[in-house]
Parts: sequence; structure tokens; C-alpha cells
Amino acid sequence: MSSTNTYSLSGRKKMVSNKKLTWSERIYLVAIFKGMMVTLKHMFKKKVTISYPEQTRPFSPVYRGRHTLMRDDEGRERCTACGLCALSCPAEAITMKAAERKPEEKHLYREEKYAEIYEINMLRCIFCGLCEESCPKQAIYLTKSGEITKADITRENFIYGKDKLVMPLEAAIANTNKQNQA
Ligand code: SF4
Ligand code: SF4
Repeated sequence: MSSTNTYSLSGRKKMVSNKKLTWSERIYLVAIFKGMMVTLKHMFKKKVTISYPEQTRPFSPVYRGRHTLMRDDEGRERCTACGLCALSCPAEAITMKAAERKPEEKHLYREEKYAEIYEINMLRCIFCGLCEESCPKQAIYLTKSGEITKADITRENFIYGKDKLVMPLEAAIANTNKQNQA
């Protein structure tokens, strides 16, 4: 069996001894000089830090950000509260309550059944994207860039309801205009 004194997983282990320090070692000048050289070396290297939030880094093309509940071309909510996203969510982060659409609400909801309440607990979510993949109505998407879950100090504020999740109407109109022009 190898001795714990000689075996090193990283290969960087150094044996220390209790030998008395020499005069030059006791004044630490050499050690201070070596330390200063390390500092100087890093002063002229390219900085790896950025001044967030003034500066931001580009997001990865496969980045999955916070969720959006989509609207169709006419601005109606696509979600029909079928519950498939909640069933496929491995973190059990999604809850919803279904309601029946009234005749005068046809301009608001695309299907006869819609989500009266739709909530995602962002503290549970692992941004796996399974909710997006399981949705038969293309009603939920994880945004590709920029949209992050903001920091907060209370747990309740991490439960995102429809007020935060549903795509703003103006964005739906802009999308439709873009499609029409293409
Ligand atoms: S991204 Fe994954 S963990 Fe988050 S709500 Fe969707 S299915 Fe659940
Ligand atoms: S987001 Fe899609 S899968 Fe989830 S309840 Fe709505 S329609 Fe169903």
C-alpha cells in the first residue's frame, strides 16, 4: 500500500520540512519578489472579467432562458391548459388552473379551454426545455437570449404567473407584421 506521504492524486503535492529558515528566507525578500512577479504578469494579461450589467456577454446559441407563453397571429393565447407541460416537467415546477372560454372571449384565447392561472416556480425549474417539447400547441417557449430570471429576496417572487409569462401583445403584433413582410 502506498504511503500517504508520497502519494499525490494531482501530482502537485510538495513535501514540507521543518528545517530552520536561512537569513535570506527570513527577510522574505525573495518570496515578496516572486509574488510581485506573479501580480505583474497578470496586470498585462487580457482581462477575463466584464463590467456587468453595463457590459454583457453574448449568449450561447443553445441557451435556454425564461419561458414565454405564446400568442397566435391574432394575438390570442395559444395555451389550452392541457397540462402536458406540467406532466413532463421533471421538477414539478408548473401548475395551472383551466377555465372555459366565454363566447365574448374568442379574441383572447385560441381554444375553448384556456389557462386561467398558469404558474412556473423558477426556483424549481432546471431549464431543461421538456415543457416546450411536450406542448402540442406551440404555446410555451424558452427564450433564446437575454431573458433571465432576475435575482430576488423572497421565494414568492420566483413564482411567475401569467403577468410575467404571457408574451406582450405588442410583441405578438410585431411578430405577425414581420411574418407578413417576409
Ligand atoms: S424547463 Fe424543464 S424544469 Fe423548467 S418548467 Fe419546463 S419542464 Fe419544468
Ligand atoms: S403550455 Fe402547452 S402543454 Fe402546457 S398546458 Fe398549455 S397547451 Fe398544454
